[in-house]
Amino acid sequence: MMQITLCPTCGSDTIRRVKRDWTGQWEGRTYTVPKLEFYECPACGEKVYEREAMRSIEARSPAFAKTHTGK
Ligand SMILES: [Zn+2]
Repeated sequence: MMQITLCPTCGSDTIRRVKRDWTGQWEGRTYTVPKLEFYECPACGEKVYEREAMRSIEARSPAFAKTHTGK
């Protein structure tokens, strides 16, 4: 599992793992990923997603829906 202790954007060590409903937008459409776990930096607002979080987002995102119709 990836361990993030410093924010890749501002270098703050206050970045921490959070778990909450995540809302994204794609072409004006809003979609939500419930109880998504990701890292958030309170200093600059940067969000960092692990591979698993990315998969959850992609699974919910209309932008990636097409890629899941194949195998
Ligand atoms: Zn930061």
